[in-house]
Amino acid sequence: MTSAPAGPSSPSGTDEHGQEAPDLRGNPLAGPSGLPHGLPDFAALRTEHFLPAFRAGVAAQKALLEEVATSTAPPAFASVVLPLEDGDPLLRRVSRVFFHLVATDGTPEMQAVEAEVTPWLTALSDAVFLDPRLFARVDALHGDETARAALSAEERHLLERLHQRFVLRGARLDPEQKETLAALNQEISRLETRFTQQARADLKGASVHLTDEAQLAGLDAGQRSAAREAAIDAGLEGWLLTLVLPTVQRLLPSLEDRAVRERLYRASAERGTETWDLASQIAELRSRKAALLGFADFASLAVADRTAAVPEAVEELFAATVGPAMRNVEGEATGIAARAARDGVEDLAPWDWAFYEARVRTEEHAVDEAALQPYFVLERVIEDGVLRAAGEVYGLAFTRRDDLTGPHPQALVWEVRREDGEEVGLFIGDYFTRDAKRGGAWMNVLSVRSRAEGTRPIVMNTLNISRPAAGEPAFVTLDEVRTLFHEFGHALHALLSDVEHASASGTAVPRDVVEFPSQVNEMWALRPGIVEHYARHVVTGEPVPAEQLERVRSAALWGEGFATAEYLAAAVLDWRWHRLPGGTRVEDPRAFEAEQLEQAGLSHPLVAPRYRTGYFQHTFSGGYAAGYYSYLWAEVFDADSVAWFEEQLAAGRPVREVGEEFARAILAIGGSADLLAAYRGLRGRDREVMPLLERRGLV
Ligand SMILES: [Zn+2]
Repeated sequence: MTSAPAGPSSPSGTDEHGQEAPDLRGNPLAGPSGLPHGLPDFAALRTEHFLPAFRAGVAAQKALLEEVATSTAPPAFASVVLPLEDGDPLLRRVSRVFFHLVATDGTPEMQAVEAEVTPWLTALSDAVFLDPRLFARVDALHGDETARAALSAEERHLLERLHQRFVLRGARLDPEQKETLAALNQEISRLETRFTQQARADLKGASVHLTDEAQLAGLDAGQRSAAREAAIDAGLEGWLLTLVLPTVQRLLPSLEDRAVRERLYRASAERGTETWDLASQIAELRSRKAALLGFADFASLAVADRTAAVPEAVEELFAATVGPAMRNVEGEATGIAARAARDGVEDLAPWDWAFYEARVRTEEHAVDEAALQPYFVLERVIEDGVLRAAGEVYGLAFTRRDDLTGPHPQALVWEVRREDGEEVGLFIGDYFTRDAKRGGAWMNVLSVRSRAEGTRPIVMNTLNISRPAAGEPAFVTLDEVRTLFHEFGHALHALLSDVEHASASGTAVPRDVVEFPSQVNEMWALRPGIVEHYARHVVTGEPVPAEQLERVRSAALWGEGFATAEYLAAAVLDWRWHRLPGGTRVEDPRAFEAEQLEQAGLSHPLVAPRYRTGYFQHTFSGGYAAGYYSYLWAEVFDADSVAWFEEQLAAGRPVREVGEEFARAILAIGGSADLLAAYRGLRGRDREVMPLLERRGLV
C-alpha cells in the first residue's frame, strides 16, 4: 500500500487567528535542510519543533490561499493551479516529516501533536474546496481556451484534475446546497467514526474463551502463549482466542477441535448488531450526497475521477471474474471435502474449509517454509534481490550512506543514481517492527521529484519484520519477500518519476491504479536470473534448490479459487451498497447482503465475503467506499503488463531495454497524463483481463 502524506490541498488551520507568528529560529523544519538531496535534519529534530512549524505552515497556507482568492490578475497556471496543488512549502515539509514519524515512532507526545493538528488540516481542506472565490479562479482558467492552449500537456492535465476535484466536492452547488452537502459530510463522518469504534468493540467482544487445554489441540507454542496472554490481559482463566478483522480467522487452519472451529468461525462471521444498521444509514447518506452532486448513485460519483470512470467498467470486471472464481471454488471444494471425509467429516462446513485446505496444501502442494527459511536473509533479499533487480531492469545503482541520519536509528539510507552516474535521490528502508510503529507495510515520501522546483525524491519503505536477537541474521518469510518487492515497486514509481511539477509526481495517480506499479514489481521476486542472487543459504551460500522454488510457484495456485471468491464477494458487497439510487434506505441489511451476493452469483454455503457488511471497515469507515474493487482492477493492469514483459523478453529484447520502455511509458509519467492512454501507447491496445485469470488459475 501507499500512504498519502497530508497533501498539499489538505493543509489548514483554524484556531490560529490573530496569534503571533511562531518563532522558528533554530527549528530544523523552518527551511530546506541543506543536507544531501534535501534530507530532513533528523539528527536535530525534536518533538517540540512540530507544533510551531505546523502553526507557521498553516498561517502561510492560509495567506497563500487568500492571495489566490483575491488576486485580480488574469488567472494563470503558476498563480492558480500550482499554489492550490502544492500548497505552502513549509506546511508540505512539516506534514511529510511529521506523518512519517508519527506512524513509525508514535510516542504519546507525537500523538498529542497529531490530535491537535489533524482538525486544522481537515478544516483547511474543506475550506479550499467550498470557497467560491478559489473555484472561480480555477474555473476561469479552465474555461479560457487561449490560456489553456498555451499550457504544456502536463499542466493541462493538472488543471483538468484540479477542476474536476472542485466540482466533485461540490464547488458548483449553490450556497444552500453547499450547506446541505456540508451537513451530509459531517453526518457521514460522524457515523463512520461510530462504525469504526463499534466494529472495533465487536471484534474484541467476539474473542473465544477456552478453559480446557485439550481444546487448543493443533496450536503451536507461540499461538498457545498468545492465547494465554490474552486471557490474562482480560482477567480470565484459561485461554482467549482473539480475532482478526477478516471473516476467516488465522487460527482456523490449526484448530483440530471441530467445535472450537465452529465457535471461532461463528464469532467472526456473526459479529455486530448495531454496525449493520449504521452501514445502512451511511450508505443512504452517501447516496443522497451523490444525488446532490448530480450522480445516479455513490459508486458513479466515486469512480468519476478514477480510471474506471463509469460503474459499468467495474461491473464488467466482476462479470469476467465471478464465474471462473466460483468454478474454481467448486473444484477446490471437491478436493477439500474428500480430504475431510477421510477424517469422518461428511458435512463440510465453512469453519472446516481453512483447516482441510491447509491439510491438502501440506499433503499435495508441500512447501516447507521452515526448509526455505535459511535462504531468505533480509539484508541479502534487499541488496542482492530488490535493489539488484532495480539495477538490472531500470538501471538504478544504490550506495549505502551510513553517514546520513535517517528518521530512526534502524532506518537504512541509500543514495540512488542512474547507470550514467546522474543523481536520482534517496531510498530509505525501515524494516523492523517496533512497539511504537504502526502495523503493516507501506511506502511514503519525504520529497518528490519536480523539474520545476529542482527537487529530488526521498522515498521510504516501512515494514514490520521481526527483529532478530543481537548478532543473528534477520530471516524473512516468502510473504515478506513479496512485500519487500511490492513496496519497492511503489518506491520505483517515485524514484523514476520524470515530471515538471511536484503534484504530478510518482504515486499521484488515480486511486484505483496506485497498486499497479507495485504489483508489477512482485514479478521479479522469484524469477530465475534474480532469485539465485539473493536466495542463498545463510551458512553454505548455496542457492535455493530449483525444485523448492518450483513447488512454491505451483502451490501458489492452490486456494486461489477461494481467495478470489471471498475477495470478490466483499468487493461486490462494497459496490452494491453504493449502487443504491439517491435516498434509498435498506431496511434489512442482512437480507440485502444475501440478496446481492445471490444476484451476483457469489452465494456459496462454504464461502463468506472476506468482510461482511457489519465489519466492513474498508467501506463503512471511509477509505475504500465503492473502491474495494481497486485491488483486482489494478491487478488487471499488473498481470497484463507482466504478460507484456514476458512477450518482450521472449522475443529476445534485453531486460534493461524492456524495463526502460515500461519506466518511460508508465512509471515516469506519474499523474501528469492519462494512464489509460499511456497504457494503450505501451501495449498497442487496452489492457485485457485474460492474463489475470491465467495467473490466478481461473481458466
Ligand atoms: Zn501497495
